[in-house]
Amino acid sequence: MIPYGKQNITEQDISAVVDVLRSDWLTQGPKVPEFETVIANYCSAQYACATNSATSALHLACLALNVGKDDVVWTSPISFVASANCALYCGAQVDFVDIDIETGNMSVEKLATKLAQAKQSNTLPKVIIPVHLAGQSCDMKAIFALAQQYQIKIIEDASHAIGAKYQDKPVGCCQYSDITVFSFHPVKIITSAEGGMATCNDAQLAKRMKRLRSHGITNDPSEMTEPSHGPWYYQQVELGFNYRMTELQAALGISQFTRLEQFITKRNKLAQSYISALMHLPLEHLKQSSDCYSSYHLFIVRLLPDDKHLHAKLIATLRQQGITSHLHYIPIHLQPYYQKLGFQVGDFPNAEKYYQQAMTIPLYPDLTRSEQQTVIENIKSALCD
Ligand SMILES: *Cc1c(COP(=O)(O)O)cnc(C)c1O
Repeated sequence: MIPYGKQNITEQDISAVVDVLRSDWLTQGPKVPEFETVIANYCSAQYACATNSATSALHLACLALNVGKDDVVWTSPISFVASANCALYCGAQVDFVDIDIETGNMSVEKLATKLAQAKQSNTLPKVIIPVHLAGQSCDMKAIFALAQQYQIKIIEDASHAIGAKYQDKPVGCCQYSDITVFSFHPVKIITSAEGGMATCNDAQLAKRMKRLRSHGITNDPSEMTEPSHGPWYYQQVELGFNYRMTELQAALGISQFTRLEQFITKRNKLAQSYISALMHLPLEHLKQSSDCYSSYHLFIVRLLPDDKHLHAKLIATLRQQGITSHLHYIPIHLQPYYQKLGFQVGDFPNAEKYYQQAMTIPLYPDLTRSEQQTVIENIKSALCD
């Protein structure tokens, strides 16, 4: 069996978790702030807020930006459902911006057009959530310029993109966004089992996310409505959640982080091998922009022949050979839940065409050369006979 993605766990990771089990703190101890500092420093961001998942971090990010029931949030239809669900959790409406089919990322042209129309009809979004598909950053400078023009906030869904760079700066530095969110689910680049992180450069946003992560409770006298009753005193000042990361998760994340650069280098090497080996076949890999360095969370190709059956057949054939090819993603607006909200087939044609063509083939740091060769040979023989 060759899966499409797989975590890498070492004895060092295991000891890090066991050490926490033997310590005084299983939750709310020193490891979570340590992990936050590690990620903030790495990303050149001022603040980081660790959570129990990227989904929770996206929800907190929306709440901290005051997304509420009269607001609209736009994201990409080619993403995991969590990129859109976070807005629905806040009672807001969701809409999508179609993709650039060559990169799979939100199309800046479509965004510009849609914003101009929304301005006319007074339906501008409060927040846009670009998604860095497979680990390649969206064109954030251009998206930021549009957001400035229309006074819209930006949350980067960088669940795929820790370790990636955009214009030589780390994704997560928030130069062109308000908040960036990472995922540490095991299929992602580094893992804390479950876990997420939100980075930002605004002290108030960071403080708000941390308060909402823990029930909306504060210990800070300056946030309280009356003087403290004593050392036990705390106040719940708004409705929050329990979205905390545990110490075990943070310790695993810190330990994994020490191999982040190694993972990214290996992923890029494997990606280059795929690119040269598959070059002459009737398929295309996601086009890489010269100002991006991808973390290659996924290796996605698009089958060029306009043949739905060939596409489904190739994925099925590979699976029969023990190679778990996958498809990232089913356009969110085609999910039954979103269809019930009123979205229809045909709403985002590039995303729907992409869905007819795209497939994810195995890529992870421990994929061996011979396993990769097996994948390549199987794709070649499926497409060439
Ligand atoms: C994995 C993923 C998420 C959700 O991450 P969790 O940590 O599993 O909550 C959100 N957005 C994208 C694009 C993802 O790939």
